[in-house]
Amino acid sequence: KDFRNNVKPNWCPGCGDFSVQAAIQRAAANVGLEPDNLAVISGIGCSGRISGYINAYGLHGIHGRSLPIAQGVKMANRDLTVIASGGDGDGYAIGMSHTIHAIRRNIDITYIVMDNQIYGLTKGQTSPRSEMGFKTKSTPQGSIETSLNVMEMALTAGATFVAQSFSTDLKDLTAIIEAGINHKGFSLINVFSPCVTYNKVNTYDWFKENLTKLADIEGYDPHNRMQAMQTLMQHNGLVTGIIYQDTEKPSYQDLVKGYSETPLVHADLNLDEEKFNKLVAEFM
Ligand code: SF4
Repeated sequence: KDFRNNVKPNWCPGCGDFSVQAAIQRAAANVGLEPDNLAVISGIGCSGRISGYINAYGLHGIHGRSLPIAQGVKMANRDLTVIASGGDGDGYAIGMSHTIHAIRRNIDITYIVMDNQIYGLTKGQTSPRSEMGFKTKSTPQGSIETSLNVMEMALTAGATFVAQSFSTDLKDLTAIIEAGINHKGFSLINVFSPCVTYNKVNTYDWFKENLTKLADIEGYDPHNRMQAMQTLMQHNGLVTGIIYQDTEKPSYQDLVKGYSETPLVHADLNLDEEKFNKLVAEFM
């Protein structure tokens, strides 16, 4: 079960995305997957390259569209574990509508967002996750927009698995990705993954000083949605761990009428009229 391939990542030395790559590889092995059981679908951005760095099925898609592709892959072949991945610009700006609808659809895939609060690939512009006042080439006088609190948004949209981690915390990050893969529904994992080249504010040291582990909050219950929301608001979203999980809500696949026991990719496509009519009837 070796999820490493021989492609050398061309991320900058020190980029947080290296740890995310390692955590996905470890988590996939730990849950017992083989490379041909896993598909990693990514968007555009530095982090979008990740699908080429993991020994599994992979597709480096188009900007903001990793989720539509990933959902299509899962619907065509339920036997695959599907991970979608990308950056905060990819998933929370151009791809935001897909993120919200995948959340409320609760389709059984894991979405890992490498959140560095900036656009790295295009050399450092303000992203939806940049703090107000953040100075970049696109906001030389400081951003006048508020940062999107994605975890609060996910809870509001009806997410059944919401978690956050920090890329240096490889052990915790791996465990969270394992939990996300094992979750029967859509799991959103936001990973603080510093851009060492363009973001000189939200650095490794900054996160170490500002993040609170949910495990250190006495009595924190990840099944309590109200407590999850209150905790996020109290800590301005800067918490790590499994923030919320609902194991009761059925996944999209559970509810699709006529969703065949046989994955579409294995279906007999040489249909005679009788078989064709039977297949169509399943969806009526
Ligand atoms: Fe990572 Fe930033 Fe370099 Fe992109 S520009 S590879 S996000 S450090």
